[in-house]
Amino acid sequence: ILLTAGTLTACSNGSSTSSSSSANTAGASSAKIGLLLPDSVTARYESADKPYFEAKVKELCPDCTVLYANADGDAAKQQQQAESMLTQGVKVLVLDPFDGVAAAAIVNEAKAQNVPVISYDRLIDSPDLAFYISFDNEKVGELQGTALVDKLKKDGVAPGDGGILMVNGSPTDNNATLFKAGAHKIIDPSGYKILAEYDTPGWDPAQAQNWVAGQLTQFAGQIKGIYAANDGTAGGAIAAVKAAGLTPVPPTTGQDAELAGIQRILAGDQYMTVYKALKPEAERAAQLAVDLVNGKTVKGDTTVKTASGAEIQSFLLTPVSVTVDNIQSTVVKDGFYTAAEICTPD
Ligand code: BGC
Repeated sequence: ILLTAGTLTACSNGSSTSSSSSANTAGASSAKIGLLLPDSVTARYESADKPYFEAKVKELCPDCTVLYANADGDAAKQQQQAESMLTQGVKVLVLDPFDGVAAAAIVNEAKAQNVPVISYDRLIDSPDLAFYISFDNEKVGELQGTALVDKLKKDGVAPGDGGILMVNGSPTDNNATLFKAGAHKIIDPSGYKILAEYDTPGWDPAQAQNWVAGQLTQFAGQIKGIYAANDGTAGGAIAAVKAAGLTPVPPTTGQDAELAGIQRILAGDQYMTVYKALKPEAERAAQLAVDLVNGKTVKGDTTVKTASGAEIQSFLLTPVSVTVDNIQSTVVKDGFYTAAEICTPD
């Protein structure tokens, strides 16, 4: 239990940081802004995206109101939530779709009422989006695949010694498709075999756990690494491995730099995660929403094509690979967590 020379590789009672935001004011509008998030099995939405978004809207437009809803992994529920917000007169919707194809219907309904929609984090397959704000999601998969392959090589695992289980995200999430593509790009030519692959419904950690439990029996002795697409599914996979009494846990990937994920990395149970700076993502969305409310014309940094070929004005942020060696210089340095938060005894 120590904190070595400024590097958080284990927990003591270190301390660090926080961040502050600069003051800024926009028009004194009293508009309603809708924020719709996709699931409640993933920590980030209510611990990060929502509070960061609300705080930035408040700063930019003190009289604006944010209406918030979480779809709990249900596309029909999300549609109702969006319709209810439109009825309440929202001026813009910031929509992280549970189902990126089904959510095109929401964009249509909003368009009919002249309400612009910002596709938040996950791309909606609609030509009528005002903006798309996310990360380079194929890169996320590449970072995960690279970390896993490099770790297996470093540990002297030969391709013939066994293979990898792949726990992907929800089939309704365009990001999951991109993460998977990025990971395959690295793993497929590496020589390491993919023993079995699963698309986790709704990104549900419990379903990931169940699936991995079954694979542990089927591929006993052969599993050398686990690709898990996010920290939630990694948590499920690792719980299955532990319940089966397998030690050590095969190197397992993740994403989101969830507090629980970072703590598992420090404990040696999870190999890596991907840190996506959620504050700038949420704040950019808030800024765009307020700009749209104020009728300001904004251009994206780039454009992204939907599956149906429409070009969407977009902002894409850069993901960062995190292992035990750079927790301090990434999530702690950035003020995403303090060392004290990470090290709170459970
Ligand atoms: C997000 C991830 C998240 C996952 C599950 C993805 O679309 O990009 O950060 O872990 O959904 O909610």
